Amino acid sequence: MSLIVTGTIGIDSVSTPDGGHAEGVLGGSCSYFAAAAALFTRAPVRVVGVVGDDFPATMHDTLRSIRRIDLAGLEARKGSRTFRWGGRYRDNMDQRDTLFTDLNVVGEEPPKVPAAFKDSTIVFLANSHPAVQLGLLESLPKRALAVADTMDLWINVARDDLSRLLSRVDGLVLNYDEAQLLTGKRNTVAAARAVTALGPKFVVVKKGEHGCLFVHPGGIGALPAYPAETVTDPTGAGDAFAGGLMGTFERLGADSWKDPSAFRTALANGTVAASFTIESFSLTRIARVTDDEVEARASEYAAMIRV
Ligand code: AMP
Repeated sequence: MSLIVTGTIGIDSVSTPDGGHAEGVLGGSCSYFAAAAALFTRAPVRVVGVVGDDFPATMHDTLRSIRRIDLAGLEARKGSRTFRWGGRYRDNMDQRDTLFTDLNVVGEEPPKVPAAFKDSTIVFLANSHPAVQLGLLESLPKRALAVADTMDLWINVARDDLSRLLSRVDGLVLNYDEAQLLTGKRNTVAAARAVTALGPKFVVVKKGEHGCLFVHPGGIGALPAYPAETVTDPTGAGDAFAGGLMGTFERLGADSWKDPSAFRTALANGTVAASFTIESFSLTRIARVTDDEVEARASEYAAMIRV
């Protein structure tokens, strides 16, 4: 079993309403996803991504320091610039405004999948241009489970590619606002159901501090977020959530998502991974979480949601 991910690896600038600010720190959908997934997988998480030659060595070192991540598919492209994103959170920390998105190298030729990654069976297409996501999907003939994430930008600027992508994936993970933008439906259940009509067999709608709602062949359901007392920076929570989810599917088997109980376990692990991510700016916390900390928080969360 092997989990492969493509998405952005970039440099973020983030401001929070309490005056917190992180300038030029490691971010990107792929980075957060991989760090979170690696907490749960048996085999190393295979990363396919591209950065420019301005990507700092210290950020390379941070990625390299994360256990169970295979960076053989990370390309540092000469003459190109790294993806950069800036965001500012509103007072409730649940909504944010994107200040800038500089696609840079993400708008160029997509990264290549190394030969050693071609046998990957579980695929996660973290946020990136849907054409890049499709490209990776098509280059993996042995895929048994493919799940994608998307974002308002791509719904707005690349809807045709996104539609093609949706018709080819098993699952989609997206935020409430994005589900609404994609389907025109305000009700979360109605929006999630409408997404399944576009292709995916399961859909998870993330609602920040209000947890998630899912539509699955076994029925619909919801899980609360972990009730965090300190939220330093919510950036990457969605990607880490997806990492916990997919990392658990890797551990339990590519078909495990079909089992409603395993599906809930995977969602719970996603929730736990997200709860660590928001404790710091950048990947500082999620990259250093220990197995004992994950286990303790997963038990605490399981007790919290028991009725
Ligand atoms: P999240 O908070 O889970 O939505 O993820 C935020 C991360 O995604 C940040 O680290 C950004 O670098 C990255 N990001 C922001 N916008 C995009 C985009 N349009 N496509 C891909 N990644 C993005």
